[in-house]
Amino acid sequence: SPGLTLVATPIGNLGDLSPRALATLRGADAVLCEDTRVTGAMLARHGVSVTLVPLHEHNEDDQTPKVLARLRAGGRVALVSDAGTPLVSDPGYRLVRAAIAEGLPLHAVPGPNAAVTALTLSGLPPHPFLFHGFLPPKAGPRAAGIARLRAAERAGLSATLILYEAPHRLAETLAALAEGLGPDRPAAVARELTKRFEEVRRGTLADLAAHYATAEARGEIAIVIGPAPEERGTEEELEARLREALAAGMS
Ligand code: SAM
Repeated sequence: SPGLTLVATPIGNLGDLSPRALATLRGADAVLCEDTRVTGAMLARHGVSVTLVPLHEHNEDDQTPKVLARLRAGGRVALVSDAGTPLVSDPGYRLVRAAIAEGLPLHAVPGPNAAVTALTLSGLPPHPFLFHGFLPPKAGPRAAGIARLRAAERAGLSATLILYEAPHRLAETLAALAEGLGPDRPAAVARELTKRFEEVRRGTLADLAAHYATAEARGEIAIVIGPAPEERGTEEELEARLREALAAGMS
């Protein structure tokens, strides 16, 4: 149908492209994608030939007015990312906001997402969960991000946390998480989901940090961390911690 359709694509296993995703991409006037080579190769393997238009962090502001013009004219535009669900740690949010602001038709074809797949395989409580995406790559800002999560937990947040991480940073991030959230927190490292070398390793943050301190991590990785044990205290204590958490959030 006319409008902007957010289409989820596989996170590794080509078979996970749904029939509806395929039909939507086939019928699109244009497919917006992060990398035309990645999406072009994926579509070629399904025998789909369609106009690909790059949309990434660096051109989203420039592309948005052009896409909106196409949509106003009744065009069928699909948005995909390299893998998984668009917008989730991927481009598209600004375009979606702009389309909503103009009342243009917006649809989604749901499908693969690494965060939810990791969550379901982790053996950790499935809800409430907090999807964080990537922590900052540098040690200082990363520790500050973890401290903000911890402050929120001290103020009462009790949720399973889901993070994405690059393989070359996994060991240091697990060590920082063990230090910032507590070494005994139950966790899971989900690697190469839906692919040939899929692996889910479960243990405490300390166990996982120790394992990956020596084992080389390869491929794509999601980290799942079980909720903090419930914080006890008087109402005054919890309120003081909430103020602390708010202050940490503003720094
Ligand atoms: N939009 C995607 C989604 O819906 O999951 C996520 C895009 S984000 C740029 C890419 C990150 O997602 C990877 O660095 C990794 O942390 C995680 N990821 C993607 N595919 C994965 C897989 N097959 N197994 C584990 N993690 C994966």
